[in-house]
Amino acid sequence: MAVEKREFQAEVRHLLHLMIHSLYSNKEIFLRELISNASDACDKLRFEAIAKPELIGGDELHVELIPDAAAGTLTIRDNGVGMSHDEVIDNLGTIARSGTRKFIESLSGDQKKDSQLIGQFGVGFYSAYIVADKVTVLSKRTDADGVRWESDGQGEFTIEPSFKLDRGTEVILHLREDDREFLEPARLSNLVRKYSDHISLPIKLKNDKDETETINQARAFWTRPKSELKDEDYAKFYEQLTHDYEAPLAHAHHRVEGTLEYTSLLYIPARAPFDLWDREQSRGVQLYVKRVFIMDKAAELLPSYLRFVRGVVDTADLPLNVSREILQGNRTVEKIRNALVKRVLDLLDDMAANKPDDYAKFWQVFGTVLKEGLVEDHANQERIARLCRFHSTTAPDKADVTLEAYVARMPAEQNGIYYLTADTLAAARSSPHLEGFRAHNFEVLLLTDRIDEWVVNHLQSFGGKKLESVARASRDLDAKIETPEKARLEGEFKDVVERLQKVLGERVESVRLSSRLTESPSCLVAGEHALSRRLEEMLKRAGE
Ligand code: ADP
Ligand code: MG
Repeated sequence: MAVEKREFQAEVRHLLHLMIHSLYSNKEIFLRELISNASDACDKLRFEAIAKPELIGGDELHVELIPDAAAGTLTIRDNGVGMSHDEVIDNLGTIARSGTRKFIESLSGDQKKDSQLIGQFGVGFYSAYIVADKVTVLSKRTDADGVRWESDGQGEFTIEPSFKLDRGTEVILHLREDDREFLEPARLSNLVRKYSDHISLPIKLKNDKDETETINQARAFWTRPKSELKDEDYAKFYEQLTHDYEAPLAHAHHRVEGTLEYTSLLYIPARAPFDLWDREQSRGVQLYVKRVFIMDKAAELLPSYLRFVRGVVDTADLPLNVSREILQGNRTVEKIRNALVKRVLDLLDDMAANKPDDYAKFWQVFGTVLKEGLVEDHANQERIARLCRFHSTTAPDKADVTLEAYVARMPAEQNGIYYLTADTLAAARSSPHLEGFRAHNFEVLLLTDRIDEWVVNHLQSFGGKKLESVARASRDLDAKIETPEKARLEGEFKDVVERLQKVLGERVESVRLSSRLTESPSCLVAGEHALSRRLEEMLKRAGE
């Protein structure tokens, strides 16, 4: 029978080498990765079986761990979807997966962090070589012949037909001499409880009495009652779900029954994913329909300004064969999305009120993303505005001024909420526009994020007070600031103003005497209804 011999791509060889040499003190994670692949394979089969129920028939989908002390092998077996000859080659061999290079570039030397990267970048299978000096994979799809893949992870692998008859995959690890501990059933069950408890399929292992036992909870984590779950459990599930080794800042777990039926478990991470600003990246929470995994990153379930939220939504109100196309513009999805937005905003309100330090952390990492909501989500604009934090002339070092606090301390004679936009905080602080406001003790918000210019265009008022740029010729503002001496001074400087007007000609709308400055001789301001200078520049750069 034909045995094909093939070479791993250079990138895969490099990856294997790094994997073995950089994760040796955190070896045990191989089990988590292989069980997670087995579970994915069962999810895929369940998904295919939506259209063809006969694929599963009466089978109970499960994962089995089979240690064989005599042979020195540990087998991870599943009855999931299996792989065809070509799929084995694509998935386990020649072609470097898209995450390979990123994984290699991201290795930090910190083994705990690096072991999470494996899952993030989709290179989990190769972690088998941390403990095995040879790996054999037997696999069969329902609609294809069985295949046998084998490699010592050095540079080549072989692939040949196999007589495997039952659907699914067996990954046989020929354990290194030093790694025989992974043959001990007690060690294996501990690891399963540590890393894979939330896997909703039964994970089975033969005990000493030769009976097969299920060693995990075998129940989707989010279906467990809240009363049973502690913060640590939520944190552990988060780590398994996201491969983020930093504990989340907060979570919200809800089961809703009635006209709309869904369970949501949402998390606010403590740090930004590496692709938060990559517009091309898909984002969102995992979608399940009645416990069947449907898709990762269901972007339609949350608006883009909440793209930092991670978690799971499981609903009984969508058809199992739901596709991304169906999700778009679906009424049920819209209802769930509105409910989820409310949950997230509630969660943030709660954090802001009760855990201000955590909230400050959140704001620092995701504030600029949340602010997009002021532009995108009119229905919730007021709520989002309350959640925003700003630098101001009163608190120039920390972005912790709320609009509420600002309005509460406005002096009686102040009508608007004053703000200044600039590229950097330093530029904002030294802006001549602030001179008059400082002299009259008016607080000014200092806005330095790129998005702020759009924000102030959309958020026109808060708490009944208009937002007003200090760089605009607001007559109202001038009246406030200017002194009774105005008339006298205007007489005195009439000639100067007229001369400037003549020299500048068409280039300015008008030249005006102002007391907004106390030190600088002059500054440029935009007309009351004109575009702000920064927005003008941004539009110019965008080619409009
Ligand atoms: P990821 O799971 O992130 O895709 P892995 O390196 O863990 O990356 O796995 C690579 C691919 O190999 C999987 O995407 C899947 O297509 C295939 N695969 C691995 N294990 C199995 C399995 N037990 N059954 C079916 N396919 C598998
Ligand atoms: Mg995997």
